[in-house]
Amino acid sequence: MSTEKSLQTSLVHSDYTAPEGFAAFPTAIHHASTVLFPNVAALRSRNWQDKSGYTYGLHGTPTSFTLEARLAEIEDGKHCLLAPSGLAAIAMVDFALLKSGDDVLIPDNVYNPNRELGNWLARDFGITTRFYDPMIGTGIASLIQPNTRLIWAESPGSVSMEVPDLPAICRAAHEKGVLVALDNTWTAGIGLRAFDLGADIVMQALTKYQSGGADVLMGAVITRDPSLHRKLDTAHMRLGFGVGMDDAYLVLRSLPTLKLRLAAHNDGALKVAAWLKSRREIDRVLHPALPDCPGHENWKRDFTGAGGLFSVIFNERYSEEQTDRFIDSLKLFKIGFSWGGAGSLAVPYRMQTMRKNWPYKGQLVRLNIGLEDPDDLIADLEQALQAL
Ligand SMILES: *Cc1c(COP(=O)(O)O)cnc(C)c1O
Repeated sequence: MSTEKSLQTSLVHSDYTAPEGFAAFPTAIHHASTVLFPNVAALRSRNWQDKSGYTYGLHGTPTSFTLEARLAEIEDGKHCLLAPSGLAAIAMVDFALLKSGDDVLIPDNVYNPNRELGNWLARDFGITTRFYDPMIGTGIASLIQPNTRLIWAESPGSVSMEVPDLPAICRAAHEKGVLVALDNTWTAGIGLRAFDLGADIVMQALTKYQSGGADVLMGAVITRDPSLHRKLDTAHMRLGFGVGMDDAYLVLRSLPTLKLRLAAHNDGALKVAAWLKSRREIDRVLHPALPDCPGHENWKRDFTGAGGLFSVIFNERYSEEQTDRFIDSLKLFKIGFSWGGAGSLAVPYRMQTMRKNWPYKGQLVRLNIGLEDPDDLIADLEQALQAL
């Protein structure tokens, strides 16, 4: 047949197929928008929700199916959906489960764009959004209304790092038939067994440790319950949340080292945190594994490890101008958002504007401890503290 094809047509339809039986560690990168069906009957009987086959690039290729399966395995869940960012994964959960007239509860220390999304749902979508004290524990029961559909939790919360009593929140929610979605980004699903503690939905920003390279934006939503998965999958399809297969590959490439990297981040962070705790410039080290951190008892009960992200509160005698100078004086620590990569980062936050009833007067700086030698990081912090 190839002899009858013009060169132009051969450029599109080559006769070559690579031999079968190739084996290697990496997952192949399957790019596709169009997925080919062998015949019309196969096209007509397609089912995009059935993961035994392929229908359209948006619903996945072997590369994204593999990543989904492996992430579900890490979380000890059954189903996983990928989204183009962690925030898109949060939006998928909200749009799958909330409609006009519903109520959602969000912790006051939630990842800030989750709060912004909640406020938008309240302003333009007829949903009531209420923010709760993350340390509320069993008290959450009194906030649950007949129209409450979803409770978000985050452990620890972003920036201020409080560790909630997740099992208590889940018990109270389930008694009233409300679902709990946990943002489990902090240890990438390694240090907190979210489903065992009662979460119904686990969301992760793969952008952080699963990528590990500070080069990919992606999110995941993991579940155990098939009907819940189906709801989320429908929202995923309606919202058109596809991911790029090169990016999916990059995350797959990082997964074998995930646990080792997390342990290294954890060790480095604990060493740096202990050193900071000994400094007179620092009033509090908000690291869940240290007693300064609200919810430390919950951390000890619920977690098997920590990550590399924590915050410190300077003594109130230091102004914002001084702590900004401290950050600007750091050499190994860079300034920038996101975290989970190999490089250490420092970011200041204005907590008075971010939290209700924020109790501390000193400046807060969040540190992401990367994979550098912790002694070098400590030396860097020490020289920058001189600049105060
Ligand atoms: C970064 C982050 C997200 C969002 O991830 P993106 O991929 O940046 O959208 C969500 N939750 C937490 C806790 C995060 O740290």
